[in-house]
Amino acid sequence: MLKDNDLKSIKLTPTDNSAVEGRTQNESANNAVPSDSLLSDNVFYKVVESCPVAISITDLEANIVYANQAFSRITAYEPEETIGKNESVLSNHTTPPIVYKTLWGRLAQKKSWVGVLVNRRKDESRYLAELTVAPVVDDKGAVTNYLGMHRDVTDIHRLQNQINNQKLLTEATLNSSPSAMVVLDETGKIVLDTLSYKALAADIGEEPVVEFSKAMRSQLGEQYNSESNLDIDFDGLEVTLDLSGFGTRYFTCHSSSITIEDGAVESFFNGATTRYRMLVFNEITQTRRRQEETRLHTLKELVAEEEFNQAMRETYDGAIHKLAEPVNLMSAAVSMLEKKGNADDPALEAMRSALHSGQQALVSLTKLLPMKASAGKTTVNINQVLTDVMSMCSEAVMSKGIDFSWQPAIHLPSILGMATRLRSMFKQLVINAIEAMDRQGITNRKLVITTNVVEKFAVVEIKDYGPGVPKDLQMKVFEPFFSTKKPGEYVRGMGLAMAHEIVTEHSGTISLENDRTGCRAIVHLPVS
Ligand code: FAD
Repeated sequence: MLKDNDLKSIKLTPTDNSAVEGRTQNESANNAVPSDSLLSDNVFYKVVESCPVAISITDLEANIVYANQAFSRITAYEPEETIGKNESVLSNHTTPPIVYKTLWGRLAQKKSWVGVLVNRRKDESRYLAELTVAPVVDDKGAVTNYLGMHRDVTDIHRLQNQINNQKLLTEATLNSSPSAMVVLDETGKIVLDTLSYKALAADIGEEPVVEFSKAMRSQLGEQYNSESNLDIDFDGLEVTLDLSGFGTRYFTCHSSSITIEDGAVESFFNGATTRYRMLVFNEITQTRRRQEETRLHTLKELVAEEEFNQAMRETYDGAIHKLAEPVNLMSAAVSMLEKKGNADDPALEAMRSALHSGQQALVSLTKLLPMKASAGKTTVNINQVLTDVMSMCSEAVMSKGIDFSWQPAIHLPSILGMATRLRSMFKQLVINAIEAMDRQGITNRKLVITTNVVEKFAVVEIKDYGPGVPKDLQMKVFEPFFSTKKPGEYVRGMGLAMAHEIVTEHSGTISLENDRTGCRAIVHLPVS
């Protein structure tokens, strides 16, 4: 066994390779030699003995000539058992041969080597050894021994494995989630994103978080700024993205901050933290579309019912109108005959009876007149009403090859009104515009709907590129049963009368104006 005096005579090369390569062997050896005072005090030997790292010194065949207490503790070999044994006694024979080859290759070059080996204790239990080996050189630079230092890193390895597995599991879980998730650092840089987020990026063609930030800023105001302000948490904020080729896509967004302990060296003792922001985007486009379809379906039914009632009213109104004329004539004739005193005239009697029947019929018809929907007025968003109308008329617009342009006022105040009646009215105006352009010779088929605020009115313009309405008829067209259509065309003549009636119910005005390229239906409705 090597004693302290033997140890004093051993000169070590530093384990740092660059240092070895950067100096001469003698310089390296001299630098590693402890001072005489330390050696004379036997301190050096005691330090090595009590060092918690397993230290061994071998001959050039890796036979152990010295091992410290930690070596015995870690390997479970008694101190006297180790001497003379080859280091290979620690091998579990599962470390790949290439590892040993590299180790020995480095030593052959008089260089140190650091690596991890699977070691076996005396009791056959295994552990992972993080081993450093280095050549020991004499004054002439010749290698006399090898120094080995190792520590049991089984727990650290297990912990690292657990962390890695945890990370893999977390990533797999996040990636299998349909939610698009992204984590930003304090500068807005992406530090983590999921597969769904990447798929969204491929659809959008831009960084989704940038697009979402714009949309969120427009909803939350400038207080939300993903790049500089990470203080806003929100949950379930609905955001829409208009993507060319994908139409409008709907998302709910969640934002929460995450505070993580800083891994920087200088933060080790002061517990500094770093803040991140996690944004989660859940796509709800399918749900929204289904809801929208159901809503439109309901609206169509409501408008159809309203139109049916309107048609019934028109029919009865027409019948009453037509019947009232002969009844009035008959009434006048009966009064005249009665004044002449021919009370017993059988013709007068017959006329009285006919008049009575006519009046009865008028009363019956008036009773049958369907009641107007007496829905109460509520706050109505005209832009939304027009969007609904356009959805209802989209098929007609497309089938007639009409280009449609929608130019809504960004901030249109709502009005107090009956949404269903207003929908019917605007639908009528849109249908009129479509029919006006559905003629031979009209190639520039464009329908432009704009909304504006003028003073205290919400102004809607429905512009078509049809032939327009002659100036002298621009008022007349609002009269019941009036139509500019030719004989043979389907005519009801009540559309604009109904539109006029509804606008009047809302204290608004409606007019038709020609311009160089067509006709504009202009509706003014007072804002609430
Ligand atoms: P071996 O037959 O011993 O060797 C395998 C290969 O290593 C051979 O093919 C050969 O290329 C090379 N080799 C072996 N001996 C020499 C040599 N003297 N010169 C040049 N090349 C050689 N091994 C461990 O498993 N655990 C340890 O903790 C450990 N600590 C060591 C500490 C020191 C200071 C040194 C010098 C070596 C240490 N070794 C350790 C390596 C050990 O000596 C064996 O090389 C290794 O255990 C493989 O043993 P083996 O019986 O499987 O194969």
